[in-house]
Amino acid sequence: MTSAEIIAVGSELLKPEKIDTNSLWFTEKLNEIGIQVKVKVIVGDEIETIKQVVQQSLTRSELIILTGGLGPTQDDVTREAVARAINRELIYRPEIAELIRQKFALMNRPMLETNKRQAYIIDGARVLHNENGTAVGMQLELEEGRMIVLLPGPPRENQPMFERQVLPILRAKTGDVVFKRRILRVSGMGESAVDEAIAPIYSKYESIETTILFNRSEIEIHLMARANSEEKAINLLNDLTSEIVSKLGIAVFATNGETMEEVVGELLKSRGETVAVAESCTGGLIGMRLTEVPGSSAYFLQGVIAYSNEAKVKLLGVDENLIKAHGAVSAEVAEAMARGILIKSGSDYAISVTGIAGPGGATPKKPVGLVFIGYADREQTKSLKVNLPGDRYLIRWRASQLAMDYLRRKILQKEDTKI
Ligand code: ATP
Ligand code: MG
Repeated sequence: MTSAEIIAVGSELLKPEKIDTNSLWFTEKLNEIGIQVKVKVIVGDEIETIKQVVQQSLTRSELIILTGGLGPTQDDVTREAVARAINRELIYRPEIAELIRQKFALMNRPMLETNKRQAYIIDGARVLHNENGTAVGMQLELEEGRMIVLLPGPPRENQPMFERQVLPILRAKTGDVVFKRRILRVSGMGESAVDEAIAPIYSKYESIETTILFNRSEIEIHLMARANSEEKAINLLNDLTSEIVSKLGIAVFATNGETMEEVVGELLKSRGETVAVAESCTGGLIGMRLTEVPGSSAYFLQGVIAYSNEAKVKLLGVDENLIKAHGAVSAEVAEAMARGILIKSGSDYAISVTGIAGPGGATPKKPVGLVFIGYADREQTKSLKVNLPGDRYLIRWRASQLAMDYLRRKILQKEDTKI
């Protein structure tokens, strides 16, 4: 079995408020055992449409997973639709009705007549029990090795059902193919520069699929390895990852999907050092991101949002005359902010940001997107000037990313010179 199709049933999934997340989870689980998802379909609670979709899916995929529409109400029609699609009867199973009645009894509620709908099973289906709800699932084996799986919509119900009752059967059918995924993240390089540098490397690995994509503020390298054992797949990923790292060097900040704040946090934690931040145009975003990581209290001392000039003077000890002479958005002020918070907090490192996030506030000499990042440690104070593209949201996000990356690079450079 190599190909699958996921059908999300539910009219609410066709409305702007609700998004189908089930298929993402199922895709990951299927990929891990070497099954590729070829098509995803979202269909409303309409019997005839679901039937058509299922019949079409059967012409092209070996495995079809449907989620949703197994509830007790009139609009839950997945059972009926699939039965029609494969021309089989729905059979009432009193022992399942009894199980449902017991579940209601546990909740101190009487079982309604409508709940009996959930005791109808498609002829020949294996029943998948549901520990977290009343809707049972079904698994049907059809001719030519094809399979249909019906599961309820709520993730907390369908995930344990799939893992415990369906995956073992699929594993036995897929044989030894294993897929493993890995995400590397790169800062300070463009998409094409990354690709140019590493294409000669990744193209040697025929059983790894490499995709390079641009995220909000960084380049992501997605690797998917195919092998006949988990160990081999992991080894392949390790090999390619280390080749990429030796080519791109310090620009690779994550080799296992970590975020910048996790990477910086780990670096500080492993060194037993601390950081404090002074933020103007990022308005606390760096502090928020750094403290989102569990355990960040080990290295994050404090953050100051010094938005006004007055706050920069009062809270960070920036010299008023410095602001008058160079403006709040300047290398001099960024450095003074970093030095100021370093001294006030007693941290080992400090980073600061001052810039123009827009859309207003620009001058001919200081355009929107002009950002200065300040850095200070016990020995030195430095700054970095950048012109960031994007709207207010992106400029602030990218500034926060760049500030953390600047800190990361400074720490690593320090390490280098010590050796
Ligand atoms: P129930 O017995 O709980 O009604 P059901 O099989 O009828 O089960 P639905 O009524 O279709 O399931 O969906 C119940 C809830 O499950 C939805 O309100 C939604 O929160 C969640 N859900 C359904 N489909 C999806 C999906 N594709 N992705 C994410 N969540 C979903
Ligand atoms: Mg329902």
